[in-house]
Amino acid sequence: MNKEELANNSIKCLDKGFVRLVDFMGDDSAIVQAARVSYGNGTKSYREDRGLIRYLMRNSHTSPFEMVEFKFHVRLPIFVARQWIRHRTANVNEYSGRYSEMTDEFYVPDLIQLRHQSKNNKQGRSEQNLELHHAENVLKKMKQSQKNSYNEYKFYLEEDLARELARINLPLSSYTEWYWKIDLHNLFHFLRLRLDSHAQFEIRIYAEAIAEIIKKIVPISFEAFEDFRLYSKSFSRIELEFLKNIIDKSKLKEKALLDLGLSKREATDIIDFFNE
Ligand SMILES: Cc1cc2nc3c(=O)[nH]c(=O)nc-3n(C[C@H](O)[C@H](O)[C@H](O)COP(=O)(O)OP(=O)(O)OC[C@H]3O[C@@H](n4cnc5c(N)ncnc54)[C@H](O)[C@@H]3O)c2cc1C
Repeated sequence: MNKEELANNSIKCLDKGFVRLVDFMGDDSAIVQAARVSYGNGTKSYREDRGLIRYLMRNSHTSPFEMVEFKFHVRLPIFVARQWIRHRTANVNEYSGRYSEMTDEFYVPDLIQLRHQSKNNKQGRSEQNLELHHAENVLKKMKQSQKNSYNEYKFYLEEDLARELARINLPLSSYTEWYWKIDLHNLFHFLRLRLDSHAQFEIRIYAEAIAEIIKKIVPISFEAFEDFRLYSKSFSRIELEFLKNIIDKSKLKEKALLDLGLSKREATDIIDFFNE
């Protein structure tokens, strides 16, 4: 990504938010370079670099991924920011409601997002939408109470109440902004948790936007992240014993595994594991 592309890479999120990459340091080659430093070797062929990155990801050799850094400018509702800030391994600088006036922008969910409480996931919404006239009523009330609390906020300011106190009754749907800087290793951790279907829809939208941006800069690492982290699953000792007992070992052929895209090492490891 060049400087011009960098300036035009904002992705709209939710109704009034966005994610914008402000700056970054390094790409796939920085990871390879760091991993090879002990051998005094730089970049080799694309195939070898890809193999090395996949090896690092598969074996949790995480520090080379810390050589790449991203700085984002994000506009997000405060309730999303509260979930996001729990990721402690980033550097954050947020808009100050003590120093500056809060804007009158609030998140209003799409009608389609107004669903019933999930029965099997206590933290989430179900697939079932509110009936249309109930949903419309909820949205109307939400907008009205956002407007009322902003009018109150303006009233407190007119009374010359300090901004730091005038803001305290504003809702969690208020938009805030921050700069957020994080290295690739910790960003993958954030993405693994926040791209997951259990993460709240509203933060997932931001995680998807960040994934879109970074996969252009670190395509090989992103592919390895998808293969070994995002879409992988770990099994307990008991679950593995069960799998070993039911698996048809006659189908564990190296060629079949190589044809699926596994490396020779990965194919050997899986065959050895199930034949133990
Ligand atoms: C679907 C979902 C539901 C959630 N629900 C809740 C909830 O109901 N209530 C709630 O409070 N939180 C909840 N969380 C937040 C969650 O518990 C974590 O705080 C959040 O995901 C950040 O994860 P982390 O600590 O691994 O990340 P980071 O803070 O980025 O840390 C990354 C890693 O660094 C290490 N690390 C960082 N700081 C320390 C430290 N001080 N000591 C030791 N190791 C450290 C840990 O290995 C950690 O995994 C939820 C998260 C998700 C994704």
